[in-house]
Amino acid sequence: MPYGDARYSNIKTTEQLGLQRCPHCNTANPSIGRRHVFAVQPSKAAFQLHNQLLQWHVYSCASCGGLVGAATPIIQAHATFTVDQLAQWIVPAATTISSDIPQAAARYLTQARETLASPAASVLMSAAAVDAMLKERGYRDGSLYSRIQKAETECVLTKDMADWAHDIRLDANDERHADHDASAKTGEDAARCLEFADALADLLFVLPARVRRGRAPPAPPPAAPPVAPAAGRR
Ligand SMILES: [Zn+2]
Repeated sequence: MPYGDARYSNIKTTEQLGLQRCPHCNTANPSIGRRHVFAVQPSKAAFQLHNQLLQWHVYSCASCGGLVGAATPIIQAHATFTVDQLAQWIVPAATTISSDIPQAAARYLTQARETLASPAASVLMSAAAVDAMLKERGYRDGSLYSRIQKAETECVLTKDMADWAHDIRLDANDERHADHDASAKTGEDAARCLEFADALADLLFVLPARVRRGRAPPAPPPAAPPVAPAAGRR
């Protein structure tokens, strides 16, 4: 259940929602103002948390007009209702980069996401992320073209993924060489390149790490701390 996803974000449902970036347009320090508030009671018992209602705050980003929702619990105790200002659930959820992705690739992926509003820069960052991920998997020699080919030959990439990787390589080449014949990159191009780079990160690093964790034997319970002797009176 996504309720509770935003518990540790420490974001309050004030007039302006304090997100660092808009989840839609990635504008930094966006103005995301509140437009509407309403309460709702989940009907299924599994979602009824201690007899709480949910108070939804509906916001809109001034830059792109995209909607953001933030929910807080209305806690009922006897005849009084208390509203907790801290958001417990924010929709859409903030995108985070998995810690299973190697640092260099994670940095490029973050930059690709943060520059989506500047498509040419974002395409270059997605291509750099693909490059960094292949290097991390041991494909270090030769051009990006030959490394994609080798990864396909060794079944690290499927044919479809290798074709997609070549598309991004070519898109990035257009930008690097400022080819006047090449069409200007659009936001859609940048989003498509980032989607591939994200998918490649899942395939090469995130899913294998999840499988390894899933197969690992459960960790033994932590040892009980030694009991301190009772302090005597002084
Ligand atoms: Zn926005």
